[in-house]
Amino acid sequence: MDTKHPPGSNSAIALPSDLTLPLEVRVHGRGGQGGVTCAKLIAALFTRMGCFVQTFGDYGSERSGAPVQAYTRVDRDPIRNANKVYRPDHLLVLDEGLLRPAIFDGVAPGALLLLNSHLPMEHFAGRFDRYRYGVVDATTIAREQGIGSAAVVIINTTILGAYAKALGLPLSALEKAFAKLGVAGDLVAARQAFEQVRFADALTPAAAMPPVAALVAPPVASTLEHNKDFPATVLTGTWSNQTPSYDTHAAPCNAACPAGNDVVGFIQALKKDGVAAAAEILLATQPLPSVCGRVCPAPCMRHCNRAALDGAVNIRSLERWIGDHTAVVPVRAQVARPLAVAVVGGGPAGLSAAWQLARAGHVVTIYDSAPALGGVLRNGIPAFRLPQEALARDLERITALGVKVRCNARIGKAELAALAQDHDAVVVAVGFGVPVALGINGEHLANVEQGLDFLDRVKRAPVALKGNVVVIGGGNTAIDCARSALRCGASSVTIAYRRAKKDMPAICEEIHDAEKEGVKIMPFRTPVAFEAEQVVIAEVEAGAPDASGRRRPVVTGRTSALAAECVLLALGQKSDLDLLPDGWQVRGGRAFDGNRPLTVYFAGDCASGEGTVTHAIGSGRKAADAVMGVVPAPKTNGLPVAPGQIRFDHFEITRPHADRQSAVKALTGNFTEVNAGLKDASEANRCFSCGHCTQCDTCIISCPDGVIYREVGGYRIDPQYCKGCGMCVAECPRGVMSMQEKTV
Ligand SMILES: Cc1cc2nc3c(=O)[nH]c(=O)nc-3n(C[C@H](O)[C@H](O)[C@H](O)COP(=O)(O)OP(=O)(O)OC[C@H]3O[C@@H](n4cnc5c(N)ncnc54)[C@H](O)[C@@H]3O)c2cc1C
Ligand code: SF4
Ligand code: SF4
Ligand code: SF4
Repeated sequence: MDTKHPPGSNSAIALPSDLTLPLEVRVHGRGGQGGVTCAKLIAALFTRMGCFVQTFGDYGSERSGAPVQAYTRVDRDPIRNANKVYRPDHLLVLDEGLLRPAIFDGVAPGALLLLNSHLPMEHFAGRFDRYRYGVVDATTIAREQGIGSAAVVIINTTILGAYAKALGLPLSALEKAFAKLGVAGDLVAARQAFEQVRFADALTPAAAMPPVAALVAPPVASTLEHNKDFPATVLTGTWSNQTPSYDTHAAPCNAACPAGNDVVGFIQALKKDGVAAAAEILLATQPLPSVCGRVCPAPCMRHCNRAALDGAVNIRSLERWIGDHTAVVPVRAQVARPLAVAVVGGGPAGLSAAWQLARAGHVVTIYDSAPALGGVLRNGIPAFRLPQEALARDLERITALGVKVRCNARIGKAELAALAQDHDAVVVAVGFGVPVALGINGEHLANVEQGLDFLDRVKRAPVALKGNVVVIGGGNTAIDCARSALRCGASSVTIAYRRAKKDMPAICEEIHDAEKEGVKIMPFRTPVAFEAEQVVIAEVEAGAPDASGRRRPVVTGRTSALAAECVLLALGQKSDLDLLPDGWQVRGGRAFDGNRPLTVYFAGDCASGEGTVTHAIGSGRKAADAVMGVVPAPKTNGLPVAPGQIRFDHFEITRPHADRQSAVKALTGNFTEVNAGLKDASEANRCFSCGHCTQCDTCIISCPDGVIYREVGGYRIDPQYCKGCGMCVAECPRGVMSMQEKTV
């Protein structure tokens, strides 16, 4: 019990003139909501008004979630009565699930009732009209202000804001009381409750009202009711106004993968059931795991929740592991009337479309102008990043599914019109076509070459370079050209890029590896002329931000000459759909002849220009869906699980398993793959399984009442005994569980 004496003449706040003393307040809450502190705060408030106060809590043997009462007495004279409060003038109910006849014991008509509820005032019409009552949604306010946890919200300070309003006090009256109890940070929530609380307009005469027992929720047994002569069977389920639920929520890695991979699914399968099970899941969306597991910029890893603890899960390399170690070839589905589909372009987008269509049982033929499938994977990305064996492994799986291939088959306007005529549908995935030109003097000199042509040459036959090589650009092509040039014998390689290094669109790891190998990067530089054995380079200044958010490059007159035996241009490419027959247009990824929609769909770089393999794969799958008339299922499971929903303390700190690097003594002539991948698949053990239940039993262990039971495929919670305390939700390590409101 806590009995305080008034501070004499220094009372800082005036006592409300209409308040009659002595005053008795009873607070009803649940263990964990802060009801006892609420009573103490009320006492602290009245101390500031020069009153004597007394306050104490009434706890039972139950823990979190059980009904708890707390009392405050206020008087002008010292308080001698040490009993519980049996006839409260003010009644604060912190949880609408506690509304029951016993709560109103001793409460006279006209007393103040303050109720925390998310329900509107109208919901209570006719129930409490004998009292002066107010309603405020303190739980939502406190939750939004982060007071307590998402499952167990502490509302004592919030409801005090509403109580101050009921007393007619200014909000400033709370400030000192809050500061004294160390909860000054909760004033924002108290202010919101002060502003949002609603009071009933007028009292209904008591005689006109039915008895309270008929108006409130069914009886709730409490271990605090000491009027039983033997231990009662307490169905604690009737205490609850919230109930826990298990739901699968989106993992951020899944949400971030442009290919649409079920990352959490394949990693958990790899961990529990091995490579074949993981491959079944991965191959549903990803026909090129050995490729993407090497060259993907891995946006999934940038969004991995584990990054906030000890480093993102090495998802890309786990994908590579599965691709390199699986022998799984999915079977073709049987379909009553298979569609005949032509795919123009055998890069990642066309391959992805073909893969999805063939798996679904349709008859697919890929046409490609190149001598072999792969697109940029074959003729662009160098072998030291993507060995031909890795690409071949993925391609074999696709052709094993029965996809037919016609190489050295350039499709022009006439051929495309004929394919559309002869097939149920055509998917066009011809990639970027035309390299961007600079339009400056000397661009056509013999020592100036398009980077893509150079990379293609290097992949076909050995190329010998010497002296300094200058590469213009900042994307993957520029980095690949620079690193390839070193391997072709260049004595030095310099990349000139017109913006800051941080703005380079190339994959960060590749930039890092290039610099490690000796490539020099000159940011804020652009060529203004090419001459016989040199490039005239101008300094560039960062101007105002452009549409991409990056600062626009402003070329200055300050120039210098850079020696260059050879210049490689890697300024990007743009889409060139010169194969479209006259009169055709592309709208929303589909071809139209005038206003007539055709069954011709576009995918990959030529459609979206996103410029990554994973985007091309996702785009190819969507084109296949359009051909098959598949409507993607709406995403129903809300926002991805955020780091704040993961209980980091349940996981041991472990550093990510890094990829092994091949020992390279000399670069010249050496196109061995630099990144040797993971030693084993144990990195899968680091995945939290965000938003996806692993049946770890933490909920069972943390339930104080032992009312969670394991069942086949999940858990069952006994509603008769779940008191809605939220401990299981608070302890769930991976953000699977949440509390759902129950209505009274
Ligand atoms: C050098 C370089 C390095 C890259 N590095 C990476 C990387 O590390 N990571 C990453 O994610 N992305 C990288 N990219 C980008 C990525 O390769 C592309 O975004 C991706 O290949 C696009 O796939 P696509 O299927 O749309 O087109 P493409 O891969 O370009 O394939 C198009 C195919 O269509 C064929 N074709 C074209 N015209 C016709 C026609 N008229 N008739 C028949 N066939 C035709 C072509 O021969 C080709 O096979 C890189 C790109 C380059 C150029
Ligand atoms: S394709 Fe790329 S983004 Fe998608 S899971 Fe694999 S590495 Fe991550
Ligand atoms: S921890 Fe696992 S499930 Fe969570 S974001 Fe990372 S990879 Fe995905
Ligand atoms: S299941 Fe147990 S821990 Fe979870 S809310 Fe119910 S009583 Fe509390």
